Amino acid sequence: MQIFIHYLLHFGAPLLIALIFFKKNWKKVYLIFIATMLVDLDHLFANPIFDPNRCSINFHPLHTYYAFLIYIIFIFLRKPLNIIGVGLTLHMITDLIDCLFMYLNCQECSINDSVLELFNLIS
Ligand SMILES: [Zn+2]
Repeated sequence: MQIFIHYLLHFGAPLLIALIFFKKNWKKVYLIFIATMLVDLDHLFANPIFDPNRCSINFHPLHTYYAFLIYIIFIFLRKPLNIIGVGLTLHMITDLIDCLFMYLNCQECSINDSVLELFNLIS
């Protein structure tokens, strides 16, 4: 279920946003959204590169709150930076939702303390 929601958010949500807000050139916008997945290349610096029990937020350099803030600022810049900003912001929200699933269902998962604080704050 978590994996289903993960991919739905990673591929489906950007498609919906492209179709609704960028009717004229949704294909191009969707491609840019998909290209923002490259932000996961920062996982290459981690060991192991992929760990399903690890929350990405505040673990990988391009998944920190600071990076997140920059992506949000991008939304207010001109094309195509705003589209890249929307794609990256969606990506971070998706990864954060993943971390929330881990927080709720997975005892052995590793979640950064700063993310735990956020969850404690909103729960
Ligand atoms: Zn990610």
